[in-house]
Amino acid sequence: VSTWANVPQGPPAILGITEAFKADSFEKKINLGVGAYRDDKGKPYVLPSVRKAEEKVIASRLNKEYAGITGVPEFTKAAAVLAYGKDSSALDRLAITQSISGTGALRIGGAFLARFYPGSKTIYIPTPSWANHAAVFKDSGLQVEKYAYYNKDTIGLDFEGMIADINKAPNGSIFLFHACAHNPTGVDPTQEQWKEIEAAVKAKGHFAFFDMAYQGFASGDIHRDAFAVRYFVERGHNICLAQSFAKNMGLYGERTGAFSMVCADAEERKRVDSQIKILVRPMYSNPPIHGARIAAEILNTPALYDQWLVEVKEMADRIITMRALLKENLEKLGSKHDWSHITSQIGMFAYTGLTPEQMDKLMKEHSVYATRDGRISVAGITTDNVGRLAEAIFKVKG
Ligand code: PLP
Repeated sequence: VSTWANVPQGPPAILGITEAFKADSFEKKINLGVGAYRDDKGKPYVLPSVRKAEEKVIASRLNKEYAGITGVPEFTKAAAVLAYGKDSSALDRLAITQSISGTGALRIGGAFLARFYPGSKTIYIPTPSWANHAAVFKDSGLQVEKYAYYNKDTIGLDFEGMIADINKAPNGSIFLFHACAHNPTGVDPTQEQWKEIEAAVKAKGHFAFFDMAYQGFASGDIHRDAFAVRYFVERGHNICLAQSFAKNMGLYGERTGAFSMVCADAEERKRVDSQIKILVRPMYSNPPIHGARIAAEILNTPALYDQWLVEVKEMADRIITMRALLKENLEKLGSKHDWSHITSQIGMFAYTGLTPEQMDKLMKEHSVYATRDGRISVAGITTDNVGRLAEAIFKVKG
């Protein structure tokens, strides 16, 4: 028998949707499965600021030597300022490393906690959460538990349930929070709710791990989207943070991100930094340089930075506009359902509240492709297809 005769077939990943979409010959088919921004023509989008920065990087004819274990320093320094704010007390006591985008940052954080967290090595993630969180943290060596987050009756936040679960967890537990644009629900706590969450986390002595994959992409304002992260730091939490530049700079395939840990002081930072290097070295030795150079060019060149801020806001605004258009079209068709969640949710995804059966119908009868949990990627909606999409949703749900 073959050496791998005992390898079981795994279930199809999310890419199954893309395959089904590709196989559909209907001209007006709509793909709302992908987690990547599309322009109003439905095409992948390279930000003009990214093009410009990339041209500058290429024109400077840098060599291709390895970066250090923690990456391109001009990039990580600027990434820290972007996340924490330029006047943050965290900056001189921050251990930070470049990472293989947001996923890699989560993986480094998971591995660090599995090795060094003094309390229980269990991480609490929201229900639901990004589909990859549980796998990343399990493979990092942590146990994964869930806390209440989404209320399917209100299609909104289960705030009381969330606070109750924070209070219920053993003191000193690790909690993962989506900093903004919660994936898959698009439901975020308000700033007032974040303040209560912080108080509950502090009272229990929990440790907060923030995943910020959408800074700027959610509201269009990089500061507003970083509110929770900055507020926790201000309130004395030495958090850790996973950052991704996939969405807000459209650097998806460049795998550009950062993992950082706020330490008590510079001496602790030095020890933590040494251990991050010891973790990263056998994982992948050192990160790719090209995306980090592009991001650094943007973040460290005032004119490019300003241009980028405008472009992030344009992406966020297009998504916000498509949410409003979808709701408006559903109402125009005479739908009696309350669709206000479509516009109150934020970020790339909307949780429609459609059932798996209704999602199947959308796919089979209307060539609208998305995951069966009812999540649609608003980035896949355009002024051209929003009318047909609303009709399809109206036909399956009323
Ligand atoms: N975290 C969340 C919540 C996400 O939605 C994503 C991407 O979809 C990521 C992390 C990581 O993405 P990447 O590894 O491409 O930066």
